[in-house]
Amino acid sequence: MDLKPSEVATVLKEEIEGFQGKMQKSSVGTVLTVGDGTARVHGLDDCMMSELLDFGNGVFGVALNLEEDNVGAVLLGSDTKIQEGGTVRTTGRVISVPTGLQMCGRVVDALGRAVDGKGAIQSSESDLRPIEGRSPSVPERQPVRQPLQTGIKAIDSMIPIGRGQRELIIGDRQTGKTALIIDTFINQKLTGGGDPKNKDQVICIYVAVGQKQSTVKAVVEKLEAAGAMPYCIVVSAPASTDAAMQFLSCACGASMGERLRDEGRHVVIAYDDLYKQALAYRQTMLLLRRPPGREAFPGDVFNLHSKLLERAAKMSDAKGGGSMTALPVVETQEGDVSAYIPTNVISITDGQIFLESSLFNAGQRPAVNAGISVSRVGGSAQTPAMKKIAGGLRIQLAQFRELAAFAQFGSDLDKGTQQAITRGQRMVELLKQAQYQPVPVEEQVAILYAGSSGALDTVPLNRVAAFEKGYIAHLRANHPAMLEPLRTAQKWTDDLAKKFDDVCTAFRKEFLA
Ligand code: ATP
Ligand code: MG
Repeated sequence: MDLKPSEVATVLKEEIEGFQGKMQKSSVGTVLTVGDGTARVHGLDDCMMSELLDFGNGVFGVALNLEEDNVGAVLLGSDTKIQEGGTVRTTGRVISVPTGLQMCGRVVDALGRAVDGKGAIQSSESDLRPIEGRSPSVPERQPVRQPLQTGIKAIDSMIPIGRGQRELIIGDRQTGKTALIIDTFINQKLTGGGDPKNKDQVICIYVAVGQKQSTVKAVVEKLEAAGAMPYCIVVSAPASTDAAMQFLSCACGASMGERLRDEGRHVVIAYDDLYKQALAYRQTMLLLRRPPGREAFPGDVFNLHSKLLERAAKMSDAKGGGSMTALPVVETQEGDVSAYIPTNVISITDGQIFLESSLFNAGQRPAVNAGISVSRVGGSAQTPAMKKIAGGLRIQLAQFRELAAFAQFGSDLDKGTQQAITRGQRMVELLKQAQYQPVPVEEQVAILYAGSSGALDTVPLNRVAAFEKGYIAHLRANHPAMLEPLRTAQKWTDDLAKKFDDVCTAFRKEFLA
């Protein structure tokens, strides 16, 4: 840092004048340097970490580097109104955002200010919550035990997510990461009819970090079109905003979620994506002259992400039993999961959903690689019927992948192999799913059971999708009593399996005729 002689002189003079042989607390300081959205401030001896600093002229900053003789701060807003030598005041508050149900249906920036043109958000002083908080301790939590249904067959069956879990969505660019989130959000309508005031409604928070404004707009439009926006909050920190706003936005969204979680509600929050957040963090910290570490990221970027994801929790019944499920997204470069940020976030989360470009381009969408995707805790939250059916599914698919390479030899294969391939192909077909069409869990169970029990083996591959559609419609219209109980605690019994077998056989006869 180059200091001008005049500055040094002023600082020294101040130090000498202020020296009285005893500690003196000061909450007014002077700007030493300013530029690139950051400022160094001298004289804020009692400044707290993350404290909001008032630079005057309506400009605020956040103290991020507390050094011996100065404080490094990022500015929230333009740095052109600030001059070297200007005064800075501590505010005694850490940066906070408005929280509560009134945020639902709105698009806000990283400070919780409306950016959707629907007017200011009405919130009182008591709605303000600091963006950094203590994450719940072990006794305040309980194990994950309720499912968070995504409505995506490949996920709910094989990589189930429980409420309070942290599940990473990882993949290269344009592999359908955001699509998974939107579908999950749309599917939450089933939990409370889409009314945020209903206590059963899972509230969805989408934090868009470093994305194009047009992408965020498209997401909001999709949510609106699906009638999901009333129970969603979108925190938008597009690539065009300051780096500081970008990395603060995740914590801001988390605070909004925590408030609802602590009121006993259920929240799912998606951070899209943490790689871009880390880039924004790196940029800010390099400007504040923190020493760069691996891949030039500051050493505490791991702390940044773990602190954020620790806030996801399933609270104990004594604490209201609410939950906050985190779905962080990380973009990889050329499928490289061993880079710094991907390995960090993989080690922090309770499982990963790997999306692959090769699968995506081959038409298998969602492009989930079920072989290497895992969910380490969600299985305990699956409905009993789904759990029973999904167990066999994984094994069938794994067998199929091994055998698929031989598929080209066709009739030269023995009967057992041929059958495994036939069934595998149909299962892969069944796991394909179009966007914006989440499938309720009871329908998933019905169709996946039909596939894995071999009921579709005689259905031509190109008619599997039509069969699925027809079969579900048939069940819904004529056998709702079989379907409904599967949504909750209904066990999967041999009796029930027999019933489904019979209905399916009858339907297939008609379908193939
Ligand atoms: P980015 O890296 O740019 O953020 P992403 O990984 O979030 O991309 P999406 O934007 O979700 O990917 O999806 C990429 C494209 O693939 C979009 O045009 C989307 O409509 C399409 N897509 C995603 N999922 C499916 C699906 N299940 N079926 C058909 N198309 C899909
Ligand atoms: Mg995306």
